[in-house]
Amino acid sequence: MWRRNVVGKVVRIKREVLDSILTYAITFHPRESILLLRGKTEKEAVVVYDLLIPPGAVHGETLSSFNPWMLPLDSTIVGVAHSHPSGQLRPSRQDLDVFYGRIMVLTGPPYRSERDVAVFDGEGRPARFEIVD
Ligand SMILES: [Zn+2]
Repeated sequence: MWRRNVVGKVVRIKREVLDSILTYAITFHPRESILLLRGKTEKEAVVVYDLLIPPGAVHGETLSSFNPWMLPLDSTIVGVAHSHPSGQLRPSRQDLDVFYGRIMVLTGPPYRSERDVAVFDGEGRPARFEIVD
């Protein structure tokens, strides 16, 4: 299953980044939250080590968005994290249409741990991920 993954790499998320994604999602629930993922792409992994609040973020009940044209030219942004208050840990058609970067992180209630998180590539396929300290 992972071999078909376009990312072809394991996604490593720093624990403090994971905690911030979860806390942010709780804050915005029942609206969606959205954050940019900052990191680097290595041979074997995409490492996410920081977060950025997107400029001009809109938090809707079913859609969060931001204007990519407002972003600084920043090669350290490896993807976007957003919440699905519905609990559906699967990207919507729209999510894939506006996919940004290399990976997409989804989180749903109860936003408690990595079990409430899923990571996908630009084709909507699940990516293997691990939490690192
Ligand atoms: Zn979504």
